[in-house]
Amino acid sequence: MAKITVDGQSFEVDPKLTIIQAARDNGIEIPHFCWHPALSVAGNCRMCLVEVEKTPKLAIACSTQVSDGMVVQTASSRVLEARRAVMEFLLINHPLDCPICDEAGECKLQDYAYAHSIGSSRFEEDKVHKPKRVALSSLIMLDTERCIMCSRCVRFCDEIAKKPQLTFTQRGDHVELTTFPGEELDNPYSMNVIDICPVGALTSREFRFKARVWEMSATETVCPGCARGCNMNTWVRNNEILRQTPRYNAGVNGFWMCDYGRLETFRSVNAESRIKSPLVQKESALGEAGWDEAVAHAASGFKTFRKGELAVLGSAFDTNEDNYVIRKFAHDVLGTKNIDFRRHIAPGSDDDLLIRSDRAPNSRGAVEVGVRPAEKGMGFDAILQGVVNGTIKAMYVVDDVLLTMPDIVQVLSRLEFLVVHATAENEGTSIADVVLPAAMYAEKNGTFTNFEGRVQRIRPSVVTLDRERSLDGYAMSRLDRFGSQFDRWLRGSKKDARPTWRIVSGIAALMGAKFKYQSAEEVFDEIAARVEAFHGMSYKKIGNKGLPLNVGKPAHTNVPA
Ligand code: SF4
Ligand code: SF4
Repeated sequence: MAKITVDGQSFEVDPKLTIIQAARDNGIEIPHFCWHPALSVAGNCRMCLVEVEKTPKLAIACSTQVSDGMVVQTASSRVLEARRAVMEFLLINHPLDCPICDEAGECKLQDYAYAHSIGSSRFEEDKVHKPKRVALSSLIMLDTERCIMCSRCVRFCDEIAKKPQLTFTQRGDHVELTTFPGEELDNPYSMNVIDICPVGALTSREFRFKARVWEMSATETVCPGCARGCNMNTWVRNNEILRQTPRYNAGVNGFWMCDYGRLETFRSVNAESRIKSPLVQKESALGEAGWDEAVAHAASGFKTFRKGELAVLGSAFDTNEDNYVIRKFAHDVLGTKNIDFRRHIAPGSDDDLLIRSDRAPNSRGAVEVGVRPAEKGMGFDAILQGVVNGTIKAMYVVDDVLLTMPDIVQVLSRLEFLVVHATAENEGTSIADVVLPAAMYAEKNGTFTNFEGRVQRIRPSVVTLDRERSLDGYAMSRLDRFGSQFDRWLRGSKKDARPTWRIVSGIAALMGAKFKYQSAEEVFDEIAARVEAFHGMSYKKIGNKGLPLNVGKPAHTNVPA
């Protein structure tokens, strides 16, 4: 270890670290633009200049390695003077258009201009003008005038996405960022460059001009786009998700997320086509019904079948809590051993960075909490075969992606009685006897277990009519700061979607069982008490980074029957 002193504080640090890393690890942030903890060192912005004792010149903290006995000043008068000079230099040709820039409010250049610049410019000549509104792809817009040539985006493409697509052309103050000839910035992780661009040069074409960052609330949650479970923030204004951005978790996704997870997962939450209330078959057509009527219809329908004629399909898109309750319902209430779920695999789509071919977030969790055939029970294929040959006559299907698959819908259409959970009307809902609107990942509390067995929290960012039920104190406190807007959202919300665990508990109650859960957390506490792989866990312990399943407790052996 090397002993160093930074601004009068002494630390023992790994001698392989640079000054900026060692200082950061010990809570001292040295201003920087081009340095990023996950990228190679470029050392081109000069913002991280610091004074090192016994060294005549100022040193850049991002590329100067620590040594034993090193004494560093990050805020001496020489350092502050140099920092002001760097800021003055960077701002010479910058358009200074913060009032119309999407980055305002989360821009390093803006923040440092307040903290480290002299507040006025001595530059009276014309600024260099460069191309504005350059479409680098269908997702990303470049404002070349705002770019400070830090090269973070270039290094991201080269080193992380492994797709060299960006470069610089020209020289001096005419340098411009551009794509290579004939290339688009279209790698599957391209939008991460927007997050790491320290200024507003790279913006999302989806999000541009939709909201100022301070108008939105950010909720810490997990991407439902595949089995990786990337940590992310969901940004909401007026009960509408406007963007999703990666949230750092060294054990899962680092700093990154893929463009699919960032963009495609929330479109279905915002969709106009969402089912707004329960639907029940009335005189050969689906008609709107209240929750009480729909749940009673489901319960009375299931009661007319023998145990062996029933089957349940859980969902890898639902939480551990949802799947645990559906398993309990199948075993304890319906008395059927025919329970399983379908995996949604896109063969060959795994990559070396994040993306998993399992396109659902909780396949591992569904198995761990027991959504799998009991001894002598039927699995997914056998259940469908049972429908075809007439042994399975009634089914409860919680996975609404199945309802969009024509071959499966064709099989399900042979059933005498079908209850489904759905988010939007589709081929499958049209053949169901009861359609129950289900809350999506952004509308409920719960946990997903990723492919590596890490249990992670999801939290609601969008309000449904299931008000108190879909929000916990954490979410309420975030929404409360918007005061009267909160009630306006609720009145504007037409979605009466509920989490699966609550819907199933309602049907169970009408069939004589008492599932007395008031919250997803209560369901989880029961999982933690009864399923060995989850022993000792709680929402508090899971926190923001997740917890690994208990090692050495394989699935298939640890769920109470
Ligand atoms: S576009 Fe942004 S990230 Fe890329 S070089 Fe310019 S300032 Fe840096
Ligand atoms: S890799 Fe998977 S979990 Fe991560 S952002 Fe993409 S879709 Fe979401």
